Amino acid sequence: MKESCEHQAECLKRIQSILDGGATEEEKEHFKQHIDICKPCIDMYHLEKCIKEALQGKVEKKCCPDKIAAAIRSEITK
Ligand SMILES: [Zn+2]
Repeated sequence: MKESCEHQAECLKRIQSILDGGATEEEKEHFKQHIDICKPCIDMYHLEKCIKEALQGKVEKKCCPDKIAAAIRSEITK
């Protein structure tokens, strides 16, 4: 398992398109293999997913609230 990702910007774009439903099957497949070995991207995926769900108003409290609150704040104030 990698502790750092050298493609983090690309990975973030892919995560966002997957969460938006805009990714192709090939991209999804590629990403699934990537998050098996890439720890920061797994964390990023979960965080992005939580932010998205929070913004849609269906987040649950168990979902890393401090991180999410901070992330949402920065998302909104962009
Ligand atoms: Zn990665």
